Amino acid sequence: MSFLRNLFGKSSKLDGAALATSPEKSDYAQIELLSEFREPRPAHPSLEQRLWDRALPQPYTDTLALFQKQGWLELMGERWQATAAAAPWIAQYQARLAAEKAAVLPKVRAAIVARDTSEALAIRRAYEARQPLGKAAWTGPEPQLSHSALTRRILFLDHWLLDGLDEETVTWLKQYAAEQHMWGAYWQLPPEEVPVHVQQALTTDALTGTEAAYWKAHQLALYVDNQETWQRCKGGDHVRRLEIVGADDEQTCEHCRTTLGKQFLVARVPELPHRACTSIYGCRCRYEPVLESYEE
Ligand SMILES: [Zn+2]
Repeated sequence: MSFLRNLFGKSSKLDGAALATSPEKSDYAQIELLSEFREPRPAHPSLEQRLWDRALPQPYTDTLALFQKQGWLELMGERWQATAAAAPWIAQYQARLAAEKAAVLPKVRAAIVARDTSEALAIRRAYEARQPLGKAAWTGPEPQLSHSALTRRILFLDHWLLDGLDEETVTWLKQYAAEQHMWGAYWQLPPEEVPVHVQQALTTDALTGTEAAYWKAHQLALYVDNQETWQRCKGGDHVRRLEIVGADDEQTCEHCRTTLGKQFLVARVPELPHRACTSIYGCRCRYEPVLESYEE
């Protein structure tokens, strides 16, 4: 422990408030790690510890020891838990994360509305790069290079999913779907964030306007992703078959059940979404490439 004393001065006393609000990533990374122990949990698996090693000013295990010394963390059997003394810094950091998310969402939305999906992706990447592990807790998987082009397809989509809807509703739906696709995360909006005419246009017997908007947008994003999977597999030599996978619950319709879990040659796979789907949510089926074993 003596080298820690050298690093952090005689007292080894950390300033939680300063770390939680610092612009330096290696500072706030420490409070992010501390936040991981709001609920008691064992130390992270070694692979994750190595990621933390890179984000923290001292190695992962030394950081836990340092927190323990501050009285911020205690070991109970195999599990670590943040103490009441650490709660204010954790709360401060969580508030900071919420504020940063609230600030970045409208920026991406504005880029989507301007149909500049490259800019939207650049904003997402910059936001995630500021996270200690390079990834926010609420976003989808790391975006591929083609991600902004895929999101862009939603904005220019002409598909029967949009049949019968007025232009204003279609435009709004595409922007909503594109925004969520860009983040790789899907969430339902509160009613005040969905225009009244859009709610009226989409409401069904089974779903409120906001629920229907969510599922319709989800279908648009899913369609674009499915198309991409199909095109990629059709053009390549590595995948011969696609499996149709998807939700299997009380809202899965009989038609979707006939293909759920089945495998098809890429050229013969049924088109998604199923036009005959009768689910109140719309078709939730997607293509999953089947990895061939070498024996075949
Ligand atoms: Zn169905």
